[in-house]
Amino acid sequence: MLKGSVAVFDTNAMTFCSLFTLSFSLSLSLFIQAETEAIIKVADPNSKYTSAQTFDELGLSAELLQGLYTEMKFEKPSKIQAETLPMILTPPHRNLIAQAHNGSGKTTCFTLGILSRVNVNEPGTQGLMICPTRELVIQNVGVMQRMGKYTNISIASTADPKYDGYNKEQINGQVVIGTPGRLLRWMREKQLDCSKVNCLVFDEADNMLGTDGHRVDSTKILKHLQMSAKNWQVLLFSATFNEAVKTFATKVVPNANQIFLPAHELSLDVIKQYRVNVQSNDQKDMLLKEKIFPLCDKIGQTIIFVRTREGARRLHASMQRDGFKCTAIEGQMQNEDRDRVIKEFRDGQTKILIATDVLSRGLDVSTVTLVINYDMPVEYQNPSVPNFETYLHRIGRSGRFGKKGAAFNLLLGENERLVLDQIERHFEHMVPEVTLNDDDTFESILTAAGLMSPDES
Ligand code: AMP
Repeated sequence: MLKGSVAVFDTNAMTFCSLFTLSFSLSLSLFIQAETEAIIKVADPNSKYTSAQTFDELGLSAELLQGLYTEMKFEKPSKIQAETLPMILTPPHRNLIAQAHNGSGKTTCFTLGILSRVNVNEPGTQGLMICPTRELVIQNVGVMQRMGKYTNISIASTADPKYDGYNKEQINGQVVIGTPGRLLRWMREKQLDCSKVNCLVFDEADNMLGTDGHRVDSTKILKHLQMSAKNWQVLLFSATFNEAVKTFATKVVPNANQIFLPAHELSLDVIKQYRVNVQSNDQKDMLLKEKIFPLCDKIGQTIIFVRTREGARRLHASMQRDGFKCTAIEGQMQNEDRDRVIKEFRDGQTKILIATDVLSRGLDVSTVTLVINYDMPVEYQNPSVPNFETYLHRIGRSGRFGKKGAAFNLLLGENERLVLDQIERHFEHMVPEVTLNDDDTFESILTAAGLMSPDES
């Protein structure tokens, strides 16, 4: 298929049809053509969805519009919002599986999807959102509170300390946002009644449904809803869907409208990516200390990704020992410490954060401009096999909503080099080598990537 074209399929018949025979509006076709090569499959060929040019035309309540304009300060829908919101909000509220770039505005799509379906005068849980990590739960609660500020819709979450420990209180948020394990426990112990749920969202859906992610719990949640709720819409959103997860997702979420992107569309050209060959781990540490830290006040915020919890602790200790101020986060830390580290980073009190992949997905901090892959993302069981999805999610912590971003891959030894070679081939995107042996080279690279203005460098 030519770059810039649109393929539209009917998910039932799976026949390739022209855009216009499926009643898609011309505006939708033009919009997608300008942006990306998206492959859209509509569940019902008779459905007519028109891409939304404004939030006003979506039939949202006055309170939700006020939230979007006054609180969020959004002016018009982003591309993915223009495309998916009509599909999400139009009765009969079909299921949707949607893929879109990191930082392109997906959260708004499913947050509005849930909020628009809640009857604020009706008690009980009507919307459910499942996220892979505590950090994403907290972030999505924050977005929903702001977007729904004028609606009075109540929100409960698994990250709320009041539900910690042995509290068996009934969960009565009209929307409940949580990680899958805790939500399942609430369902099993009848703390959470799902009989009125009409919209179920899986954020980072490929991770939620992947065998290396939360598939078992997510499937149980889907089964629980099948037994307890009547008519509910499922929304699956992620920046990545590999073929295996795509097949599974389309099976467990049947008759869904679908939007997918081919792999080569995903490699986020806005994020400049580089490879840096090093001779030892000490040299990786030296690069951070001598190049990244001295510039951190000029370039926004940086996340350094490492592969293991021990790696995060070791690198953090090494930086601290030499007086370099940064924080670290990994999944084994206490909740309060995790929350504090994220809050400090969001508030800009810390400029550099060392993280495991607990943070590779979803974190939205618009001032993050630089991502360092201290260790390359590889499959847990087999370090010579790249984890393509994780690579994309990691670098996508920078370059949010069209902002500039850069990613440096620090490569030690043949294995890490081969891993990046495979990532290049997978995304059909060359990652050039740079040597960071003098300050000028590094600063000119950052300037070229748009992270520093020429006067600053
Ligand atoms: P997301 O991909 O949902 O994490 O969104 C990335 C960033 O884009 C967030 O900081 C959002 O607040 C911002 N954003 C989302 N939609 C819009 C919009 N329509 N106009 C302006 N900013 C937006």
